[in-house]
Amino acid sequence: MSHKQARFYESVLANFDRAAKHSGLPAGLLAQIRECNAVYQMRFPVKMGNSYEVVEAYRVQHSHHRLPTKGGIRFSHLVNQEEVMALASLMTYKCAIVDVPFGGAKGGVKVSPRKYSEDQLEKITRRYTTELIRKNFIGPGVDVPAPDYGTGPREMAWILDTYNQLKNGDIDGLACVTGKPVNHGGIAGRTEATGRGVYYGLRELLSYEDDMAAIGLTAGMKDKTIVIQGLGNVGSYTGTICQKEGGAKIVGISEMEGTIYSKDGIDVEKLIKFRKQTGSILGFPGTETLEVREDWVALECDILIPAALESQITADNADLVKAKIIGEAANGPVTDVAEDMLTAKGIIVVPDMFLNAGGVTVSYFEWLKNLSHMRFGRLEKRFDQNTYANIMDVIEKTTGKKVSNRDKSMIVRGADEVDLVRSGLEETMITAYKEIRDIKKRKKKLSTLREAAFLSALNKIASDYMQLGVFP
Ligand code: NAD
Repeated sequence: MSHKQARFYESVLANFDRAAKHSGLPAGLLAQIRECNAVYQMRFPVKMGNSYEVVEAYRVQHSHHRLPTKGGIRFSHLVNQEEVMALASLMTYKCAIVDVPFGGAKGGVKVSPRKYSEDQLEKITRRYTTELIRKNFIGPGVDVPAPDYGTGPREMAWILDTYNQLKNGDIDGLACVTGKPVNHGGIAGRTEATGRGVYYGLRELLSYEDDMAAIGLTAGMKDKTIVIQGLGNVGSYTGTICQKEGGAKIVGISEMEGTIYSKDGIDVEKLIKFRKQTGSILGFPGTETLEVREDWVALECDILIPAALESQITADNADLVKAKIIGEAANGPVTDVAEDMLTAKGIIVVPDMFLNAGGVTVSYFEWLKNLSHMRFGRLEKRFDQNTYANIMDVIEKTTGKKVSNRDKSMIVRGADEVDLVRSGLEETMITAYKEIRDIKKRKKKLSTLREAAFLSALNKIASDYMQLGVFP
């Protein structure tokens, strides 16, 4: 395990302790919330060609104060127990912050997806799922995985199929995993959800004129310059949505192959197509390549968005940051020590447990859809559409004026599933940010949004434990 990875769990615990001091909650209750409830470490053989490989994997359930537990599955050669414990802990706080009624969990499989064929990855995923079923670590009311680094809808479909084969007759089987392809019980808008949530979260933060003036920025996302690390699921949607809907200028992108920069802005959608064709972001027209990939941290911009892995901004490079805001799209990209240095310089760090909660929020919607056995909007769409059409008729008759067909089609429209999902996500991110901001404003001793976010989570989790009668 590298030093960086060891620091991740330590950093989560240190952040917890720092916030817990301000909570006023009993020590025993805090200790119960802090620790991971169940850690399942497994090793299983997978036949690859003529030989067998032993795969190391984990599922950690951090908190059972609400069930099911929920959290993604990571495929990476860097996976280790402490990393999964850190990620599972963050899931508990994340769910509480956005009022999603789950406990936190996380899974990790120590493989590098790039090294395996699709068939081999399918074998690994199915075998991992079988192990989870054997130990009752998966199920619609028990523990519900989702995508994370290195996994996506394809892996979720394999998990669902394996679960259904072994649990034939479970009427709620579809709800055993989220982030599924839409034609396999998924929900419209899940793939983009984390990136879209990052956009809504940052847009809300940027909307407060006085907060922005305090760090020397004008309010609003329009024309803000952004640098993103990682152009995977979270980074690519964050980039395209901030650019297209927020009017931000994406001036730098860092990926495995290197970092590119353009002060005039990079069209992220075109860059993604370019990378698919050429296998690299390097050489994208109108951009220059930095000599050192890691120098993305030091690029001139308003907002830095790490969207790759943990422990990217550390005590070693925090001094180089020129941005005014760091948006933690990834989990744990800023270490606790680095955050102290950044806060001292007046830089705002928007914490992961709030900012990337869009994924689990829409996963919650997907889980509800699966349990209700019906897509959102099915009952009311036509009714709404007819009601709006009637209102338009009355307006036209009473005013004697005709509304243009273009305006009419915009107004006379019932919501599709994706409209409802986006609206639910937007509402969730705005409400959560307001709560965190209020706590920070009220409690003068708090120096970071992370402490405020932790306090928001701790109060809700503590109240759940008290309702359960576990703690008087
Ligand atoms: P992903 O696998 O889709 O993409 C990650 C990208 O980061 C890859 O393209 C990879 O090449 C790149 N990368 C890795 N190391 C890098 C480095 N050193 N420099 C530059 N680029 C690098 O993963 P993802 O799902 O987008 O997850 C990214 C982060 O967001 C993780 O921390 C994950 O836990 C977090 N997250 C993901 C979700 C989700 O819904 N997928 C939800 C919440 C949080």
